[in-house]
Amino acid sequence: MARSLYVHIPFCAGKCLYCSFPVSAGFIRKEEEYLAALEREAGHRTLQECGPVYVGGGTPSLLSRQGVERLGRLIADNFSVDKQAEFTFEANPESVDIARALAWRAAGANRVSLGVQSFDDSRLRWLGRGHTAAGAAEAFGILRQAGFKNINVDLIFGFPGQSVDELARDVDRILALGSEHVSLYMLEIEPRSLFYARALKVDPDDQAEAYELVRARIESAGARQYEVSNFSFPGFESRYNLNTWRAGEYWGLGMSAHSHIDGRRFWNADTLPGYLSMMAASGSAETGSEQLSSQGKLMEAFLFGLRLNEGVDILLLEQRFGVRISDDRRAILGSFVRDGLLTDEDGRIKATSRGRMVLDEISARLV
Ligand code: SF4
Repeated sequence: MARSLYVHIPFCAGKCLYCSFPVSAGFIRKEEEYLAALEREAGHRTLQECGPVYVGGGTPSLLSRQGVERLGRLIADNFSVDKQAEFTFEANPESVDIARALAWRAAGANRVSLGVQSFDDSRLRWLGRGHTAAGAAEAFGILRQAGFKNINVDLIFGFPGQSVDELARDVDRILALGSEHVSLYMLEIEPRSLFYARALKVDPDDQAEAYELVRARIESAGARQYEVSNFSFPGFESRYNLNTWRAGEYWGLGMSAHSHIDGRRFWNADTLPGYLSMMAASGSAETGSEQLSSQGKLMEAFLFGLRLNEGVDILLLEQRFGVRISDDRRAILGSFVRDGLLTDEDGRIKATSRGRMVLDEISARLV
């Protein structure tokens, strides 16, 4: 399996109220310094082969055209990227224009992930987003005009007090855009978010019901679920996502980026000043690492694989990592199968739709 490459662009125009990602709101003026640090970091990886590329954030679409050109060059100069590989660029609707979209294509991108989130203007304001529904539709049209034939849209659901009608309307309007792929995000109140600071609460039962509604609605439009939160039309499954959930290895560049190479995981400083100063001082921003045991790698791959509709083949995983799943874990798996949370089809284990709602609990019992 080819390794993937993730490049983190941490700048955002402001901070959305639900966001817990390490981003640098308003720091776009550091673009040049940041790109120089990325060039230095990428320089250590010279001509490593990689498959899918993902430029995420943050808001990569805030980069200037010159910045995008420089980013494309640093990837092409330092990695041997398969010409056919999926190359995704993340964008927010308010920073999409035709010149920028063409620059992303020229830098190698062939897929855009657009942060639409909702098609309801009052919800967008409540979430702290910087665009409107009309702006999202316009951005989508511009991406098509620029030649992108593979577009993902993100959708957030499970807001407190969100009625079934409101949710159904929102999903239908987003589906009407006609994207090839949809990624779902159930609203979570994460500790580093502004919603958390405001003590906002969500109801897990309402959210479970909302998830089923969204899933059914998207599938009735012809897209197929291939992972807990991801749906696509045939042939448009994200290669980058699949590499992650099939426990493939990956390079990560930039602030807070994680890498997993030859069984070793390591990660970078998760603040902009920390990343920039470490890169300037030593050419490395690594702040931590760990080496997983074979049993640890196997269990991680197993739990990731449960997120996929294809499930995981236990025998193949055991061969890949050269170790068996322990008997006590097999016994726990058996109890999940009896409880209807997992199925076992000749050693291929899959989560049922009930099981998908409690994957965190299943993981906690197995690790
Ligand atoms: S949700 Fe996205 S756009 Fe909003 S602050 Fe977080 S990273 Fe930036």
